[in-house]
Amino acid sequence: MHTRIAIIGAGFGGLGAAIRLKQRGWTDFVVFERADDLGGTWRENSYPGCACDVPSQVYSFSFALNPRWTSTYSPQDEIWSYLRACADRFGVRPAIRFGTEVRAAAWDHGRWRLETSAGTWTADVLIAAGGPLNEPVIPKLPGLETFRGEAFHSARWNHGAELAGRRVAVIGTGASAIQIVPAIQPVAGTLTLFQRTPAWVMPRGERPLRPWEQRMYGRIPGAQRLVRTLAYWQIEATVLAFLRPALMRLAERAALANLRKAVRDPGLRARLTPDYRMGCKRVLKSDDYYPALVRDNVEVVTDAIAEVRPHAVVTRDGTEHPADVIVFGTGFRVSDLPIAERIRGRDGRSLAEHWQGSPQAFRGTTVAGFPNLFLLLGPNTGLGHNSVVLMIEAQIAYVLAALKTLDRKGIRALEPRPEAQARFVARVDRRMAGTVWATGCHSWYLDSTGRNSTLWPGSTWGYRLKMRRFDRSAYREVTA
Ligand code: NAP
Repeated sequence: MHTRIAIIGAGFGGLGAAIRLKQRGWTDFVVFERADDLGGTWRENSYPGCACDVPSQVYSFSFALNPRWTSTYSPQDEIWSYLRACADRFGVRPAIRFGTEVRAAAWDHGRWRLETSAGTWTADVLIAAGGPLNEPVIPKLPGLETFRGEAFHSARWNHGAELAGRRVAVIGTGASAIQIVPAIQPVAGTLTLFQRTPAWVMPRGERPLRPWEQRMYGRIPGAQRLVRTLAYWQIEATVLAFLRPALMRLAERAALANLRKAVRDPGLRARLTPDYRMGCKRVLKSDDYYPALVRDNVEVVTDAIAEVRPHAVVTRDGTEHPADVIVFGTGFRVSDLPIAERIRGRDGRSLAEHWQGSPQAFRGTTVAGFPNLFLLLGPNTGLGHNSVVLMIEAQIAYVLAALKTLDRKGIRALEPRPEAQARFVARVDRRMAGTVWATGCHSWYLDSTGRNSTLWPGSTWGYRLKMRRFDRSAYREVTA
């Protein structure tokens, strides 16, 4: 079977691409989704307390504002419903092949050849929108296989596992764990939180959106657009502190005041105080994380985990911490995504083989040697300060501009010139060097070579501006 455009993944990226393609008249596309529903990360993450830590007003497509958000920070089920509603409203659901996994994609005689779990497809253009946060990591703790209770990752929440009155161990203190802890603390018998590195936590200042606000947004979309624009610039301005780390000191003071206010015990407070520059790892936002940690049934353990026994997690000092349930809030594989092993370019080598542990792409979107391939949220397009939906939309606009160039000029395939890609990557690396992300902490933004191949070291408006035009001169035509 053949389609002009194949899209991998029906999360924010794949769905956004499908909608925009359809709106602009490219209707010959298929979305391959390995799950049986759409929504990507917002379908997969259903852990208690799961919500967006970016304000709802900027966490939606610019072309589909949602007047029905119930809070200034939308909960997971609302975002998931929003995405499903978008698929229906814009009529792209019929183009999605659910339960269809793309196992391999190779450039083969002028087109992409896709081996999927439902047969072979060919496509002229491939849009990879699998998302960077979908391969959970569970650390290989000695003895984990002997554990008698339930153990699961935050992104694979076991809703059948009983938590009420049980002894729950939570491992990790990243964006997922700090939402899980306050949500389950009230029901858990005991909650032991294993912290390797304390996070910088800012107050979230969440509030419900009042019915009159929802009514107003429903009736006067311009009002919501204005609120969105204001929210956008307010958040966008914070990028300055990420680019000029000294400015972060001000924010650090606010975060420490937040900690002091919530945690009176100096010992616990010391354990929760980070010793690296704020922003180097993702800045977390929460109003209820610290208050949960001071509850009687919670213990914060900072000694490293040595092993797991049938009914306990054991730390290096030999202490047994009894547990009936272990929750891994231990993050995702990001810079060595399995999809990179599955996509093979003109020379038969995979993205992973080209990248050698450090993903690179022209404008974070196209890759030399991989004609007509577009990566959504590809290398160096993640954000530490604003909504990634903005980056996704900028990339989609770029894909549309590229398709227009192909059609107008009657070109079969294009790929970035290696020198253009190298220049782009060098510029990104140079800019990254002065940012807060390069101040020496260990974070998931860094790949196995120590390079930050995850984040965009600049403003989103700068990136959006860049992506409005397809830079034909940076590309070469590929005929086979
Ligand atoms: P994460 O940020 O990678 O955090 C993983 C946590 O697990 C870290 O605290 C890490 O400690 C700890 N850890 C890993 N291996 C460990 C081990 N062997 N022993 C002890 N601790 C260990 O993962 P995440 O919290 O799932 O978040 C990932 C990303 O998803 C976020 O940064 C964010 O971009 C996104 N996210 C977004 C939202 C949202 O609201 N929009 C919500 C959740 C997640 P170290 O810090 O020492 O490595």
